[in-house]
Amino acid sequence: MKTIGIIGAGQMGGGIAHVCALAGLDVLLHDVSEEAVESGLATISGNLARQVTSEKITDEQRHEALKRLAAAPEAEALGVADMVIEAATENEQIKQSIYKAICPVLSPTAILATNTSSISITRLAAATDRPEKFIGIHFMNPVPVMQLVELVRGIATDDATFQAARGLVDVLGKEASVSEDFPAFIVNRVLIPMINEAIYVLYEGVGTVSGIDKAMKLGANHPIGPLALADFIGLDTCLAIMQVLHDGLADTKYRPCPLLVKYVEAGWLGRKSGKGFYDYSGDEPVPTR
Ligand code: NAD
Repeated sequence: MKTIGIIGAGQMGGGIAHVCALAGLDVLLHDVSEEAVESGLATISGNLARQVTSEKITDEQRHEALKRLAAAPEAEALGVADMVIEAATENEQIKQSIYKAICPVLSPTAILATNTSSISITRLAAATDRPEKFIGIHFMNPVPVMQLVELVRGIATDDATFQAARGLVDVLGKEASVSEDFPAFIVNRVLIPMINEAIYVLYEGVGTVSGIDKAMKLGANHPIGPLALADFIGLDTCLAIMQVLHDGLADTKYRPCPLLVKYVEAGWLGRKSGKGFYDYSGDEPVPTR
């Protein structure tokens, strides 16, 4: 595997591009517009520079990684990729329309992977021309820091594709865990309902934003409180995952909290929009409730 195409230059696509380039792979970054790609590349460049400052990588490694990263505002450029990882917005229609547009330009031998947090791999695979070469490679946020990658096979995924995905995880120096193709897989099946419950606790007035986060940090030994983590993940992504759990498992225990819905409707999506359960406009995050 030499060249990786990445669709979606947001927090996850940027993170995946970052680690692939550091690991010596050529990376082509694609998004809806040239501006979105350039903004993604600028963020990666800033993150690489921060890793040099904190002595996680050398300046030489940063320089080499930057040389391997290229903008691909036109989807046709992904035709040379050995593997394409889709990390676009967590919305099934968006993902399906991306596959429809890019499958005809991909090399027939290219593997197509998705970084979806929750959507059925089998169903997404069925919207492509290569279900046997389609797989879920679910990175954790922030990608350069988090060790785990979940590998999720669809019903048609072949062994060669699974082994190639596992090989990529090894090249990146990360650890794989294998999950069956059920809504939200392993990590988010456990994590996102916990976050949703924390939002219910806030909604019902049981605790405040800082009270809930402090309780879970000091009382359950979590490194970050559930509401701060929700802001970090993105509240739109959290809501989308709860909706997939609710629809896919048809159990009322997965009902998204109305307060989460309201925040997303307000455009308060967490860190990426500057405001969620905390306001990030000042030096320190300030609780919004
Ligand atoms: P994000 O909002 O930061 O980025 C999404 C990007 O997709 C944006 O840059 C957007 O312009 C782009 N996009 C939208 N439609 C597109 C299209 N038609 N073609 C090309 N690009 C398009 O979101 P994110 O947090 O990076 O999440 C991306 C994916 O990764 C989702 O499937 C999400 O569930 C998954 N994921 C997120 C996290 C997390 O903690 N945020 C963790 C693991 C996996």
